[in-house]
Amino acid sequence: MSGNSVEERVNRWIRPAIRELSAYAVPNAEGFVKLDAMENPWPWPGELQDAWLDALRHLRLNRYPDPRATRLVSALREAMALPQGSGVLLGNGSDELIQMIAMALAGPGRCVMAPEPGFVMYRMIATFVGMEYVGVPLRENFGLDEAAMLEAIERHRPAVIFLAYPNNPTGNLFDEGAMRRIIRAAPGLVVVDEAYHAFAEASFLGDLESHPNLLVMRTLSKLGLAGLRLGLLVGAEPWIREFDKVRLPYNINALTQASAEFALRHRERLEIQAARIRAERERLMAELEAIPWVKPCPSRANFILFRVPEGAGEPVFEQLLGRRILIKNLGAAGGMLRDCLRVTVGMPEENRLFVQALKAVKIGS
Ligand SMILES: *Cc1c(COP(=O)(O)O)cnc(C)c1O
Repeated sequence: MSGNSVEERVNRWIRPAIRELSAYAVPNAEGFVKLDAMENPWPWPGELQDAWLDALRHLRLNRYPDPRATRLVSALREAMALPQGSGVLLGNGSDELIQMIAMALAGPGRCVMAPEPGFVMYRMIATFVGMEYVGVPLRENFGLDEAAMLEAIERHRPAVIFLAYPNNPTGNLFDEGAMRRIIRAAPGLVVVDEAYHAFAEASFLGDLESHPNLLVMRTLSKLGLAGLRLGLLVGAEPWIREFDKVRLPYNINALTQASAEFALRHRERLEIQAARIRAERERLMAELEAIPWVKPCPSRANFILFRVPEGAGEPVFEQLLGRRILIKNLGAAGGMLRDCLRVTVGMPEENRLFVQALKAVKIGS
């Protein structure tokens, strides 16, 4: 019995909160119809691909990238019509922005709050930085429980509240009025996470000026650039200035800066794709509604959450896998998402294969 084995050292030094976590799991999708991760399924046409490669040709990878990504920030300001005078902070995906916010706010007695079920990174990142996480259950229909939120705000005085608009994994837009009352009641920051903005066509950017504790976060991931890892946080300059201090130098690499600038110059392509995805979402929704044992939830995102009969979540997921279709099984943890699965809106052919496979599933005994 030595007290010096690697395991013992790990157990002694890695914080218990971290040892209890599981690393964020990403399944291998090789050979599958991939409908699990809210990616835009549409590739770029060949000539656009060539023009992109041309745009990268001048890059000098021996040099560090522009530390402030000045040109990219200007392009984003214009493309997203960001309010004049607002500050902008870029992250290596919006996940990194959530991490920067948490790092700057962490401290004894400080907590992160979000409605549940919600985006898992809010809780995980709170844990990484040693902050308490308070999840406030949504109502049965996945709407905000305004009274419960206001009560939790009063009780916990959260340093930051994350409201995903639309919410992931439920896909719905929360009630605007309830959101505003929560923002006004919050003593700390409220971050409205608009990862699915392109599919929701609703935003709180216009509220920034009238709410001094509000920040809006967006990402290019769901719009069609998941591989680039680029998110942005928009809000009053004094907030952005502070968060910028915990940003690692050169967090947005040269390939991402140049590629995102290129993509924004051709953003009508992304907008057309987003419109196609919205149209496909409505078609897929109608198909799901027509299956008697499937209960889809209204979606303003590029995915649909649906519930299957009690106990059928796992078998449905497995049988789809057997037909080489990968979606997301959310029911494992039980609770409000028991027997719930989430499918990303794919290309028409992918959606057709998914619906066909779903209809062929054998449930119950
Ligand atoms: C996907 C997602 C993100 C993360 O986006 P990245 O920019 O790829 O890190 C953030 N928030 C919500 C709600 C998401 O669904």
